[in-house]
Amino acid sequence: MTEHTFQAEVGRVLSLVINSLYSNKEIFLRELISNASDALDKLRFRAITEPKLLEGEPELVVRLRPDKERGVLVVEDTGIGMTEAELVENLGTVARSGSQAFLAKLEEKKNVSIIGQFGVGFYSAYLVADRVEVVSRAAGSADGDRAFRWTSNGKDTFTVEPAERASRGTTIELHLKPDQKQLLDQWSLRDLVRRYSDYIAYPIELESKETANGKTETKFERINKGAALWQRPKNEITDEQYEELYRHLTHDFDAPLARTHFRAEGNVEFVGLLWIPKQAPFDLDDPRKQRGVRLFVKRVLVMDDCDAVLPQWLRFARGLVDSDDLPLNVSRELLQDSSTLRTIKKAVTRKVVDLLDEVAKDKPEDYKTFWTTFGRILKEGIVVDGEWKERLAKLTRWASTSSSSADELFSLEQYVERMKEGQDAIYYVTGESRDLLLGSPYLEALKARGYEVLLMTDAVDTWTAEAIGEFGGKKLVNAMRADVKLPETDDDKKKAEDASKGFEALISVAKKALEGKVADVRTSGRLVDSPAVLVLAHGAMPAHLEKVIRQSGKEVPRGKRDFELNPAHDAVKRLAAIAAENPSDPRLDDFIVVLYEQSLLAEGSPLEDPNGFAKRLTSLLTQAVGR
Ligand code: ADP
Repeated sequence: MTEHTFQAEVGRVLSLVINSLYSNKEIFLRELISNASDALDKLRFRAITEPKLLEGEPELVVRLRPDKERGVLVVEDTGIGMTEAELVENLGTVARSGSQAFLAKLEEKKNVSIIGQFGVGFYSAYLVADRVEVVSRAAGSADGDRAFRWTSNGKDTFTVEPAERASRGTTIELHLKPDQKQLLDQWSLRDLVRRYSDYIAYPIELESKETANGKTETKFERINKGAALWQRPKNEITDEQYEELYRHLTHDFDAPLARTHFRAEGNVEFVGLLWIPKQAPFDLDDPRKQRGVRLFVKRVLVMDDCDAVLPQWLRFARGLVDSDDLPLNVSRELLQDSSTLRTIKKAVTRKVVDLLDEVAKDKPEDYKTFWTTFGRILKEGIVVDGEWKERLAKLTRWASTSSSSADELFSLEQYVERMKEGQDAIYYVTGESRDLLLGSPYLEALKARGYEVLLMTDAVDTWTAEAIGEFGGKKLVNAMRADVKLPETDDDKKKAEDASKGFEALISVAKKALEGKVADVRTSGRLVDSPAVLVLAHGAMPAHLEKVIRQSGKEVPRGKRDFELNPAHDAVKRLAAIAAENPSDPRLDDFIVVLYEQSLLAEGSPLEDPNGFAKRLTSLLTQAVGR
């Protein structure tokens, strides 16, 4: 017998399970049956290429055996089983990537609904048992290396030793806590299976013993309906059944946000059942993690995370696809260039996008939850997938200058409906935060015209907006760009006149003072209150994006922007006068550089020379208050 110490995370998972699920103890049975069903799926899948595994072996079944005398509940399956090494690895460690970070988050929040994403699974046995013994024999294992027993009281250690098991599979003995003996009653087991595991495709059999004339007879009775739930007509499936299947597939304790269940007929026939979860899984952004839905072929599970049936930008969707038109021995490579699969993918994508449309229309509150959680992933689709761009653009939601709070978002349709007379474009600005954008000089001319402006703060937004390009016949225009053309107002005409009057000298002084820092200097009509602003030359990257990219460790050259002066601003007018009189007035350089530095701050960029800025400002202050 070898004694092992649990990996530290296991202890933390165990105590979390015990502390946060104490009022949900009965879920242990669903978790164990779910594991058993997975083990049977794995066996059936392996048997496609190794048919010998099934010969002369017991049928595929899950059995529940209540033993009142010993106070033990046995959950048994004839699935794939585990080798000695697998027992140690699977039941002694938490082998997920990102598990440390996730555990910390869990412990902080004590959030029952996200603990499920972690797959409490096997450890939930300790909700009802104070000792658990697992005897397992791996399918196809050699004689002499047959079965092993894993035992633990769920404290710090577990032991593993050789054991006996007649054939492949896993037997889990739960030594029930004194207050959990009711679990040995036939009715309570029937009730739990009906409530939580009715859809399991394999028979779940309950053992009963009858004593008549001094003879005890053991009987097994199937207590679940079975049959792949998704193959049944929709109107025969209750919401509860859907939800239990969702939990079985995803380990999510939360109810899903929405579902779509459909049968596709035509060239390729298949059934799809997909859900949108409420919460993002903790490792949604982990690129190593396979993402996708379960793929069944003729009701046999052939792939756990088949990412080939959904585009990357729908990777938050969960569920399954079951087709009769694919070969049972599919591999990921084969799927890459299967035209059947391409047809399936397209149909599934359409169904999920339809579902999102429906939620957006009928349940705006739910849609908002969805958008806040997964919106940024959907936006990727707009950038990479031209085919779906228009439908996805409709699904986007944005903050705008008309939002009364940070979380009031609008659709592009709403924006277009509200557009002002004479307004011919959808205006937006991008930047690090809503507050920064709300105060930014780029809005001034738009505000003066009463135009609404979308405030985009996600890193992907610049690309998303550029990819959308046009919506409802209206161009999306970045108000930070140099080439923004706004319909002229009377005020503009006056500015244009002003601009033609004697700014040449100031502009040429500024060009010299800012050499190497900006691409061009000119006067412009976009400003009302601010004296100056930096704008993006055509095709240039916004400063905040440069920052994001730099933070990710990549080099980007500092893009040069154009520097625009407000010819209607008193300070600028005065500077123009000074420059006209004496272009080499020593004060000019400092003034211009301070205006430039202010514009850097307004766009959210760091100052190139903060000490210099402070000195220049102090000197200006000193002059202003007088010596
Ligand atoms: P999860 O099911 O989320 O992976 P569990 O803690 O429930 O987490 O189980 C850990 C692993 O132990 C499983 O992934 C599986 O490999 C193995 N396992 C659990 N129960 C069984 C079983 N009845 N038969 C075979 N393997 C099992």
